Amino acid sequence: MEFFSLTLAQAKEQLEQGNITSVQLTESILSRIAAVEPRVKAFITLDQDGALAQAEAADRQRRAGGAGELCGLPLAVKDVLCTSTMRTTCGSKILENFVPPYDATVIKKLKDAGAIIVGKLAMDEFAMGSTSENCAYNVPENPWKPGYVAGGSSGGSAVAMAADESLASLGSDTGGSIRQPASLCGVVGMKPTYGRVSRYGLVAFASSLDQVGPLTKDVRDCALMMNVISGHDQRDSTSVDTPVPDYTAALKDGLKGVRIGIPPEYFGQGLDPEVEQVVRTGIEMLREAGAEIKEVSLPHTEYCVAVYYLIAPAEASSNLSRFDGVRYGYRAGDAGSLVDMYSKTRSRGFGDEVKRRILIGTYALSAGYYDAYYKKASQVRTLIRDDFKTVFDQCDLVVSPVTPTPAWMIGEKADDPLALYLSDILTISANLAGIPGLSVPAGFSSSGLPIGMQMQAAHFNEEILLRAAWNLEQRAGIKGRRPELG
Ligand code: GLN
Repeated sequence: MEFFSLTLAQAKEQLEQGNITSVQLTESILSRIAAVEPRVKAFITLDQDGALAQAEAADRQRRAGGAGELCGLPLAVKDVLCTSTMRTTCGSKILENFVPPYDATVIKKLKDAGAIIVGKLAMDEFAMGSTSENCAYNVPENPWKPGYVAGGSSGGSAVAMAADESLASLGSDTGGSIRQPASLCGVVGMKPTYGRVSRYGLVAFASSLDQVGPLTKDVRDCALMMNVISGHDQRDSTSVDTPVPDYTAALKDGLKGVRIGIPPEYFGQGLDPEVEQVVRTGIEMLREAGAEIKEVSLPHTEYCVAVYYLIAPAEASSNLSRFDGVRYGYRAGDAGSLVDMYSKTRSRGFGDEVKRRILIGTYALSAGYYDAYYKKASQVRTLIRDDFKTVFDQCDLVVSPVTPTPAWMIGEKADDPLALYLSDILTISANLAGIPGLSVPAGFSSSGLPIGMQMQAAHFNEEILLRAAWNLEQRAGIKGRRPELG
């Protein structure tokens, strides 16, 4: 077995037992990246020299004793997280040469645990999109099928897992951007509870919805990553000061006493029959593991897309005003006046989807329209959150598909933003409600594309998600299956 195909937990064990060194592991990952990157295009920036230097330092540290939780393990992160030693582009031209002056809290936590950050992963510009096609640099491709989308916006983070280019990765999820690419690429992805993980140094898209989370090769690795990145941060006033459990302790065999709710609203019109079939088979496996299955109702589900596509662009239009050619990144050099400079900088620096969101958001917040759009959407958001409150009195987790279809072809929906917005219908509600959600591989379509199962739970109940996902993983019989690459 090649080192690059190990899981995070396996590689950690090999390092701890002294069977391999971090330099060997990192070299293996770097050669894997060199071999498959022309096909999958997951990385925007790669720091080979830095990674090897960190690996040497990690080996020295381990010999000296006091190695951290992730000492010497090579990881990669979505290019929306600030890194002081590598540029952070957010997939945008406007930040092409932007090297942040500090590390995001999650990056600092990974580094403090001894992890090696190999590079920055491709994404939709400012995390706006569902396919990673809105990346100004390279469009990652689905490792399972050439020419197919990886999903988005954390497409590179999911591809790096499916293609064994890193041992674990981080993404961000505002409306599904961790869970959806995880599902389309056949890997595990978790959006933690809003407030569980610090957003300090995560470049903001929609601040009331954004959350950082792990994408991993299996459920155990997801728990390991959650142990390291979770917790209160004084620099993020929305992070919550509740104790961080040992998430690996949640990986227990059997689901006796666990109540699983199935909402018919998530199995409605437009759901691909193969996706439905895989998810329903998965639900039977959870029943066999001891869970009690019952129907529950989330009646406001049909409003989620409309509510999200007002709130998220509204917040984005405000957050993105900071990219003005003065404070960060690109500045048009040929402007005649200040206003001309703003206008040229933003017209050239931002791509079409980002401009569309800024326009929608500015409109929704403008005087005379605010009450009809933003305020109304916020009120319906409360109803959506109340739906979950009611449901989690009746069950411990809600199980559903992640996306209505498996991956589609690159370009297929690129000119149809509405079709893409509608494809987010099953993932958006977790962000609106602030609850945790996870995608775990459940099966494959007849054409060989992965299909994930979504699990959602009450605030700060990530443990039940990990436990249920781990049980599905044991039973689904596809753990460790990897695409043929090169
Ligand atoms: N696809 C959604 C959007 O385009 C979600 C993106 C995300 O979660 N960052 O807004």
